[in-house]
Amino acid sequence: MTKLECQQIFAMLSEYLDRELPADLCETIDTHIESCPPCVEFVKSLEKTVAYCRGAGSPDEQPRPLSADKLDELRRAYESSVPPVIKNRPAAS
Ligand SMILES: [Zn+2]
Repeated sequence: MTKLECQQIFAMLSEYLDRELPADLCETIDTHIESCPPCVEFVKSLEKTVAYCRGAGSPDEQPRPLSADKLDELRRAYESSVPPVIKNRPAAS
């Protein structure tokens, strides 16, 4: 099995939270997240955002995917939370 990287996890997260992914893929993501603190934090913040977006609508309203702007904002927050070792950036100190 190919080891998923954080960026790949991110790309699937909104579908993951919407339970739109196959069960085996969800498991793969779960397994990655369990051993990856930046992903844990990111999933928490994304879940909050999704809950907020849905809570803002009326109960009759269909859940909508996150807007591109929101996803971009979250992606930047996510990338800034990924440790340097994952970004493969040489240590500056
Ligand atoms: Zn990760």
